[in-house]
Amino acid sequence: MSSSNGYDPLELSRRIEPIVAPRRGNVQLRRYHRFRKDRWYGGIVTGDVVGCNLRCKFCWAYRFTWKNLDKGPLHDPESVARRLVSMAFKHGVPRARLSGGEPTIGFDHLVEVIDLVTDKGIIFVLETNGILIGADERLARRLAEFHRRGIEVRISVKGTSPEEFHMLTGAKPSSWELQLKALELLIDYGLEPGEEVYPAVMLSFTDDEGIRRIKGILRKIHPTLASAIDPEYVILYPHVVKLLKMTGLKPKIAYTPDGLPTELI
Ligand code: SF4
Repeated sequence: MSSSNGYDPLELSRRIEPIVAPRRGNVQLRRYHRFRKDRWYGGIVTGDVVGCNLRCKFCWAYRFTWKNLDKGPLHDPESVARRLVSMAFKHGVPRARLSGGEPTIGFDHLVEVIDLVTDKGIIFVLETNGILIGADERLARRLAEFHRRGIEVRISVKGTSPEEFHMLTGAKPSSWELQLKALELLIDYGLEPGEEVYPAVMLSFTDDEGIRRIKGILRKIHPTLASAIDPEYVILYPHVVKLLKMTGLKPKIAYTPDGLPTELI
């Protein structure tokens, strides 16, 4: 799977899919480690999936992305959608999402959840690293069928260059391009840039030059994307600090769990 230049996230996806998203007959299940209501997006209900195709060295969910891939119950899409919808109604929030790992692993499961949740008038936020979408345009075409049905795809781009991506994730540098390709494909297939699809970029490990670089690249994909960036910074939860120490990655800017900025830890 890995070479001196890093592992291949596509190969890693293929390897873990049978563990985190096995099929039972016609139904694709997915492993979850919890469901919760969150403050992000002005209030959102969340299903946290197990498993990811990256190994980010700052991952707040690494206990269920780097390891424990066979832990957590398997759920079918109907029961997940039912749970998210009932939680959203109970808490009076308009949005639901899958998070915690990479939701596009087990794509049939994901699409069915989106279909059922948006059918009930709940906006579905897909938080993804975009790798699988960028590698297979059929996924982008299928997601774009939810145009104007209440989908928001947030592609979390890891770093501002292939080299930075490799430093942050340990994956082969060229896979970074797949994240940008995902944005391009989703827009080409009809999702509204800046509204239905937009980039988040991990900026804790870059400098002003990196920010200028990524804005220029995003502008070339679509003029609105550079101003639609949702900046991501590392939050120094104790388990994240432990991982950063283990991986030797040092953020230039990070935040305490109370939201206070801290520089050069
Ligand atoms: S892509 Fe997200 S969930 Fe996956 S390892 Fe990176 S930070 Fe964690």
